[in-house]
Amino acid sequence: MSDLRDLYQDVILDHSKNPRNEGRPENPGHEAKGNNPLCGDKVTVYVAINDGVIEDIRFEARGCAISVASASMMSELAKGKSAEDVKAMFNDFHEAVTSKEPIAPEKIEKLDKLAALIGVREFPMRVKCATLPWHTMAAAIDDSTQQVTTE
Ligand code: ZN
Repeated sequence: MSDLRDLYQDVILDHSKNPRNEGRPENPGHEAKGNNPLCGDKVTVYVAINDGVIEDIRFEARGCAISVASASMMSELAKGKSAEDVKAMFNDFHEAVTSKEPIAPEKIEKLDKLAALIGVREFPMRVKCATLPWHTMAAAIDDSTQQVTTE
C-alpha cells in the first residue's frame, strides 16, 4: 500500500459518508470526548452498558473520513458485545495499525471490517485518526472524566 488513495477504499468512504449509529442518545449512561488536534478530529462516544454488555453505542464525530469511518465501524462492531471483548478487539486493532510486522491472515479475519483501516499503518498521522474513536470509547466505558487526546 503506497498511495494515500488506497486508504480510501469503498468501505471507508461508505462509512464516512453514511455513518452508522451517529447521534446523541437521550440517556447515554457513559460518555467521553476525544480530540486529535493534529488532524482536527473531534469525537464524542456515548455508551449504554447493561450487565457488562454494550447495549447501545452512539457517537458524534467531526473530522476526516478516517476518523468518522472508524467511529462508525466501531459502533457496529461493539454493539451487543461485552465491554471486555470490545477492549480486546481494540487491542488487536491497535496492534495491527501500529506494528511494523506483517499481520497474520487469521488476525486480519478477526478484525472483521476494521481490516479496511489497516492501511493507515503506513501513515503515522492517520493512525491517530483511526484509533481516536476507540480510545474515546474505552474512556467512556471506564467513566474517565479526562478528555482523550492523541497529543
Ligand atoms: Zn483525522
